[in-house]
Amino acid sequence: EKSLSQSILSVAPSATMAMTQLARDLRAQGRDIIGLSSGESDFDTPAHIGDAAAKAIADGKTRYTAVDGIPELKEAIVEKFQRENGLPYSTAEINVSPGGKPVIFNALAVTLNPSDEVIIPAPCWVSYPGMVSLLGAKPVIVPCGVDSGFRLTAEALEAAITPKTKWLMLNSPSNPTGSAYSREDLAALAVVLRRHPDILVLCDDIYEHLVYDGFQFTTLASVAPDLKGRVLTMNGVSKAYAMTGWRIGYAGGPDWLIKAMAKYMGQTTSNPASISQWAALEALSGSQDFIAKARKAYAARRKDVVKAINSIDGLSCREPEGAFYAFFDCREVLGGRLASDTDFTTALLEDSGVALVPGSAFHAPGFVRLSYAADPKLLKEACARLNTFCKSL
Ligand code: PLP
Repeated sequence: EKSLSQSILSVAPSATMAMTQLARDLRAQGRDIIGLSSGESDFDTPAHIGDAAAKAIADGKTRYTAVDGIPELKEAIVEKFQRENGLPYSTAEINVSPGGKPVIFNALAVTLNPSDEVIIPAPCWVSYPGMVSLLGAKPVIVPCGVDSGFRLTAEALEAAITPKTKWLMLNSPSNPTGSAYSREDLAALAVVLRRHPDILVLCDDIYEHLVYDGFQFTTLASVAPDLKGRVLTMNGVSKAYAMTGWRIGYAGGPDWLIKAMAKYMGQTTSNPASISQWAALEALSGSQDFIAKARKAYAARRKDVVKAINSIDGLSCREPEGAFYAFFDCREVLGGRLASDTDFTTALLEDSGVALVPGSAFHAPGFVRLSYAADPKLLKEACARLNTFCKSL
């Protein structure tokens, strides 16, 4: 154990994965546990996508591929960016990696030097600060309160920038808050970014298709085409097509960055699974019916869950524009038996058998994340247990 590196010792384990594992362990002991801690669709991967994978196996497409993706999939991604985002990328500007996570990690790995800073608006996805720390660079967490809809404002961005700023991480819709940036929000950030031409921007659009009540998703490179040369527009099939286990993420960005990411992959992971790439090709270029079906289901659950949480004394939840998370404030019920959001989620799991994730894991103490990508019956039961639990405090 004493042989472990400084970098691995510098990061905490992924809190969402830890909570999900704890829920699994308790269930294995026979406890009745409702697990709402994981960021994963409860739907199965659409059958036509699975069929494409089976065909790839039958056709012998089981060998190493081009390191950063087969040409056919890169073409489909080029078309996707054009069709859905109005973004003109060429195949030389596309990276395919074994998941969205590696896309982000590889982009950071090929650009960050030890003293570099990465601006991360918080509440933030657990892995951004983790990845930056693993690479020996400095995460600069910028708290964004519920008053700004948990969004980074132009003023807060300007104040966080230093000569060492290398990247800005933007995640819309957000994990954990579900907040999304409008065209106007992004345009305001673009004004600041134009004053700082050396800053790169990573747009994590993995929840793009999960937006509700007519919210129009848009991304920075579409809103500010003049910045496109320093934006990495990242996306993936995990959340949009219920394909978390297939491990395919992708991005469009400047060719110098894409080339460096391929070089990095060539010495580390090599290509994403060949079979998953053929499946992802079908996901992006075949029927898109699943997206509308899933969005409709999530939209209804979001309404019910947010309403149920807001009806509980002491809890309050902002209605999110997207993703599949409700991120609620539990500060009013703290102070007695429970001192923190972590105490809250631990006690809730032990007393009531509901697994949620404490906001601290997302750099937002006092809040809690509930994933509503689950059976509506379970969601209803979980909200009832949450109500009973809060009354007991
Ligand atoms: N970005 C965000 C904000 C996420 O929530 C996730 C998954 O939880 C990812 C990226 C990575 O997704 P994957 O590696 O499954 O493609």
